[in-house]
Amino acid sequence: MSKQGLRFARENPHIVEASQAFIQKFDSVPDPVVKVASLAENEDAQIAWVLLGSVLYHGLTYLQVLSVLEALFKEFPNKKLWETPVPKASELKSVIKKALNNESWALLEHAPGMFWSVGFFVRRHFPLKTWLDSRNEEELWRDLGEIYFMGKKSIRPKVISTILRIKNKPPLGLGLSVHEGKAISFFPISMGSRRFMGFMGPRKDGDFADWTPEKKLVEVNDWYKIVSPKAREKAAHGFSFFLEPGQNDFLCQEIMKSCEACPLYCYCSYGRKS
Ligand code: SF4
Repeated sequence: MSKQGLRFARENPHIVEASQAFIQKFDSVPDPVVKVASLAENEDAQIAWVLLGSVLYHGLTYLQVLSVLEALFKEFPNKKLWETPVPKASELKSVIKKALNNESWALLEHAPGMFWSVGFFVRRHFPLKTWLDSRNEEELWRDLGEIYFMGKKSIRPKVISTILRIKNKPPLGLGLSVHEGKAISFFPISMGSRRFMGFMGPRKDGDFADWTPEKKLVEVNDWYKIVSPKAREKAAHGFSFFLEPGQNDFLCQEIMKSCEACPLYCYCSYGRKS
């Protein structure tokens, strides 16, 4: 664990305590991908929709990815994700653009490729529940690299997120069993976790924003261990709401109804009186 993180925790026990209370506030708030995938009619379809949601959740906020996935699920429910003939690129992009209220998204042009690639993966490994049962985490990690935009490097945060969404208990995951392997050595870091580290956490006085992704990953995971040593997934989930854009304000504020109800209120420079 990093010396800086440990020193910060020792010198700021009140922030550690407030952070623990903060992440608990989001224990029952679902992961957006899992929320939509859970609507699917059976486990094969739920896994497939977790794959799609995990690959699309890139450069989108919590509410945006929720809106995009809900719209896609409504238009192409359940096995329409992988059945042929596949939807046209123009159809997929039109659904996504409407779900985003025409706000720009840098990956829009790649989205049809992601959708088709997930469909191809599902057809290739169907039934997905049998595929899941026949692999350990390391093998899942390797297979999931077949999907367009899932990542090819040694660190594949989207793949790790996918596996966690399959195995975490609801509402953070589908609660399906996954054979353990070596693949998951870290928890993915959201924009919220990064904001927390740079604004209020162990790296608030440094140049955290300029660090390499690998270095950030290690440091944020050390913080997860300090705040929630027995359930790091809860820390990863809870911090993802920190100063996340909501409908009209920050999502953390909208979910808690007011900043004054927030355990971090005394330390947050964005906190507002109701
Ligand atoms: S904006 Fe409000 S709800 Fe969000 S972390 Fe700051 S004080 Fe808490």
